[in-house]
Amino acid sequence: MNTGVVLVVGGAGYIGSHMVKYLREAGREVVVLDNLSSGYRDAVAGVPLVEGDMGDRAVLDVLFQRYAVDAVMHFAGYIEVGESVRDPGKYYRNNVSHTLELLDAMVRHGVDKLIFSSTAAVYGEPCYKPIDESHPREPINPYGRSKQMVEAILADYERAHGLRSVSLRYFNAAGADPEGELAERHDPETHLIPIILEAAAGKRPHIAVYGRDYPTADGTCVRDYVHVQDLCRAHLLALEHLRQGAASAAFNLGNGGGFSVQQVIDVAREVTGQPIAVVDEARREGDPAVLVADATAAREVLGWQPVHDRLEPIIEHAWKAGQEILYQDFE
Ligand code: UDP
Repeated sequence: MNTGVVLVVGGAGYIGSHMVKYLREAGREVVVLDNLSSGYRDAVAGVPLVEGDMGDRAVLDVLFQRYAVDAVMHFAGYIEVGESVRDPGKYYRNNVSHTLELLDAMVRHGVDKLIFSSTAAVYGEPCYKPIDESHPREPINPYGRSKQMVEAILADYERAHGLRSVSLRYFNAAGADPEGELAERHDPETHLIPIILEAAAGKRPHIAVYGRDYPTADGTCVRDYVHVQDLCRAHLLALEHLRQGAASAAFNLGNGGGFSVQQVIDVAREVTGQPIAVVDEARREGDPAVLVADATAAREVLGWQPVHDRLEPIIEHAWKAGQEILYQDFE
């Protein structure tokens, strides 16, 4: 079956580059659009790469004319909550306005299937746990609001233009490909697991724990870490879902388990064999105590079952990728 080309926007970034690898291993033809603002050219070596911005109409028109794009996966969002509070315009411009250019180009070129990277941040402060898709959506920062706006726009585009989409609301994406060819690389890095592993590699003196006075078993925040490979599988299933004619939908992606910051540190100590110094700091603003997904809908509707529901493989793969790609200077 000729399924056409999948356009991966933001394909040189962390999750996007894993998706590109995953799609190619599944025998899909891929083209990447990335402005390399936070992506890495080497993450898409050997893959057709259009270097440009999804907000650039001319770039989009040339791309859609040149490639027989059947579906789009959109990973090209800014993701820093703190930065979004300080500089909301950056988030609304890229995550909303530039996404509109992408959607309009899809409509112009008759491409009617989109998988959109959304986030648990669309829910805001949890009213109940675990969070399912019908939980109120009241984001508490511009990042979450920018994703919520796009979800609303997508509903309108389906009604007006027949553009169908699946929005996947990630909880805490983590890990790396088991071969260690790709890695989570953010600059600056703010995410827990890469920071802990940088401390293990001697790249940082310690890991700061933001708060030990939360109402959780050990006092540290609980998050739902989901392996990037499991996220990729969900995207492919979502694409098949749309190919079979399904209407637009949104799904949570998480394990539904949840691990505390302290548990992550403990497992990282085991996996790396390093002591990993810890410094206790004050709570980080805007951090809820517990963020855990109810991903029943993704299981039931998409048939998605996360393979990695433990922390060990997530941290092992992130550690391996870090050693291959990130920590060489420190060995
Ligand atoms: N965290 C921490 N120290 C760090 C970075 C993160 O204690 O240096 C905590 C943070 O407060 C949160 C959890 O680790 O409870 C996960 O944070 P991350 O930024 O990785 O993801 P988020 O949950 O904010 O999407």
